[in-house]
Amino acid sequence: NLVRFFNPAMQAAIDSRIVMEAALRQALDKGEFRLYYQPQIDQHGGLIGAEALLRWLPPGQDMVSPDTFIPLAEDTGLILAIGQWVLDTACAQLKAWEKDPRTQSLQMSVNVSARQFHQQDFVESVQHSLVSSGINPARLKLELTESVVLDNVDAVVGRMQQLNALGIRFCLDDFGTGYSSLSYLKRLPLDQVKIDQSFVRDVPDDPNDAAIVRAIMAMSRSLGLQVIAEGVETQAQRDFLLQNECMAYQGFLFCEPIPIEEWERLLQ
Ligand code: C2E
Ligand code: MG
Ligand code: MG
Repeated sequence: NLVRFFNPAMQAAIDSRIVMEAALRQALDKGEFRLYYQPQIDQHGGLIGAEALLRWLPPGQDMVSPDTFIPLAEDTGLILAIGQWVLDTACAQLKAWEKDPRTQSLQMSVNVSARQFHQQDFVESVQHSLVSSGINPARLKLELTESVVLDNVDAVVGRMQQLNALGIRFCLDDFGTGYSSLSYLKRLPLDQVKIDQSFVRDVPDDPNDAAIVRAIMAMSRSLGLQVIAEGVETQAQRDFLLQNECMAYQGFLFCEPIPIEEWERLLQ
């Protein structure tokens, strides 16, 4: 007295996830990850820093987007080893930049996922990257999303303060898309918020997005936070942001995320 349905699409999704998980487990050892670096630009068009963005390049296949494999890496715990590799690689790049007068004052932003931030020894692992690379910690900025903060604000503040004491700064990524609570925003030792690209996309035309951007700017000003906008693709967007006193930008209008070899051309 039972009817069972079989959905081939569900099976296909599970199969492809298993295949990807197996490949992801080996990707680090096989050296299939790369960091791309997207320039961050100030109001005068000057280069002020870069965001390190992870790329997975399985041999003979298309590049896999981090939006696809980061959630899987989080579920499986692989994010811990991958995140450590990202930190070490970004710090090594910062060290190399220190030696070049054109790049020695640049900031490097590194994305940190919730599972990574909440692991027991996260502070120690960041400290390890700092010591082994010998960088100036003030050049390193960790990007957290609101999902990191959601869990246990007291614990998060404590951990951020420990990292602050090492000299590291923080940016709140994708700002406005999560459960932004003004009460925690006040308590977190943040340096910067990053206006999410979903708000930037439709300014200046969409009056709602324009109002949200203005509100973020006003709030950041009164809390003493710096602001950077991501996903800036057009001159009109940049002009609107500048008019509203947003002085830092990241987006295709300036440059896409590029591998480090292409930075030489950019710097020239
Ligand atoms: P995110 O940190 O918010 O990064 C911004 C995303 O916007 C990047 O996508 C970037 O390539 C893209 N982007 C930059 N400029 C523009 C633009 O002008 N227009 C549009 N439409 N998009 C633009 P990407 O590289 O695919 O990364 C997606 C997300 O994956 C990141 O979002 C971040 O949450 C995560 N991610 C990337 N690298 C890492 C990493 O090393 N660790 C962790 N935990 N997460 C990472
Ligand atoms: Mg980011
Ligand atoms: Mg973002």
